Amino acid sequence: MGPPGVGKGTQAKIICKKLNIIHISTGEILRNEIRKKTKIGLIAKSFINIGKLAPDDIILDIIDDNIKNENCIKGYLLDGFPRTIPQAKGFDKILEKKEETLTMVINLTANENELINRIIERGKDSGRSDDILEIIKERQKIYWHQTAPLIEYYNKKNILKNINGIGKIEDITNRILRILN
Ligand code: AMP
Repeated sequence: MGPPGVGKGTQAKIICKKLNIIHISTGEILRNEIRKKTKIGLIAKSFINIGKLAPDDIILDIIDDNIKNENCIKGYLLDGFPRTIPQAKGFDKILEKKEETLTMVINLTANENELINRIIERGKDSGRSDDILEIIKERQKIYWHQTAPLIEYYNKKNILKNINGIGKIEDITNRILRILN
């Protein structure tokens, strides 16, 4: 977890490689659906391009489907999911059916100005339609309204770990690995 631009995707890729587990990024899955021009892609595009969240039911179906992958038995890391309380509750139900539990939620933290600058930099070569200032601001707003309440949700379950997301990429990776080990 963490606000847009905090480095979730960057860290998730490194951690998954190091631990040899599956990386499931709902943002990447949606961008892939958009590239393939599927029905889900068409719906997702209309939300992503204005900085809003895609509908919970679509996202929960994607997760349900992706964690069925037999490679997930060794473990997996969810990047950018859940992003709303209904998604978190829906995910709890999916896990309950599979008799699995969520081990840990890592919350990367950073201040808002640092993040906006980072995304503007990323936008120079990310090719992402939502990495432009106006949309970034909307995504930040949505994060604080719809996603930040999950911090309390997972804190109450005693599985939340806050990690400072500011610093060199490898320092942040080491902070995460220390908590995971
Ligand atoms: P990300 O790559 O995680 O920054 O996601 C990019 C965009 O995809 C977000 O701004 C949302 O529009 C959409 N998206 C990604 N994950 C979710 C999710 N779990 N729930 C709703 N929308 C999502």
